[in-house]
Amino acid sequence: MATIIWAARTGVEETAGRRTAAVDLVKVYRQGGTQVRALDGVSVDFAPGRFTAITGPSGSGKSTLMHCLAGLDSPTSGRVVLGGTELTGLSDRRLTRVRREKVGFVFQSFNLLPQLTALENIVLPATMAGRPYDRFLLDHLVGALGIGDRMSHRPAELSGGQQQRVAVARALLARPSVLFADEPTGNLDSRSGAEVLDILRRAANDLGQTVVMVTHDPHAAAYADRVLTLTDGRIINDVATTAEPNAPRMLRAVGGSAR
Ligand code: ADP
Repeated sequence: MATIIWAARTGVEETAGRRTAAVDLVKVYRQGGTQVRALDGVSVDFAPGRFTAITGPSGSGKSTLMHCLAGLDSPTSGRVVLGGTELTGLSDRRLTRVRREKVGFVFQSFNLLPQLTALENIVLPATMAGRPYDRFLLDHLVGALGIGDRMSHRPAELSGGQQQRVAVARALLARPSVLFADEPTGNLDSRSGAEVLDILRRAANDLGQTVVMVTHDPHAAAYADRVLTLTDGRIINDVATTAEPNAPRMLRAVGGSAR
């Protein structure tokens, strides 16, 4: 995709100022007689409007951390604050509501409903919740993501990159406090992957959207402006830059090489 121009007033920034953080997070899974310490005391704050990548080898705790932050899993001990709301001690019902209001998800497998058009997929969460959605923001996102002429197509008629852009639009339309992306480029060729990563970066830079992406791919992590590296459930590296994201520099930081 060439250049994406986001309009200034989308409203995403209105919700961007609320804290998202983990404090002393420990998650122990019990399997038979053994225990796995998936998170071993993770403390981290996610600055609003920043694009953070969580990386590390398989089994290092990336998914567990993301699931705890998003309120999908509960930690054994420690605290999670999501978009300004303390998750500790919330009832299941309240947690579900907080999740619905504050979390956007983009998955490796897109998770679009095949029988619905792109447009129907994008507005589905609002439709199901009986909530109105912001048509200005919808038009804006669809235009900015370059999928305006695909709205009446079903997912099978779209490329992988287009499907993922539909999924990003669906997530951003709800103006989440945090957009979580779980290996969002795992099913994409490198060009489509680069476009999706560019979109995530622009959502942070231009919309003030807080973005947290889990990836094992250093090339993908290089698009973020902060890279956390997990090993054995601990953060062993935390590299941030206040400058405009610079892929080659960040690639060196995360131990990858430029394409
Ligand atoms: P990553 O996302 O970095 O691959 P995970 O967070 O999935 O790592 O897993 C961290 C550790 O926790 C691994 O050792 C994994 O086997 C273990 N684990 C994850 N989920 C479960 C579960 N539901 N039950 C038991 N062990 C689990």
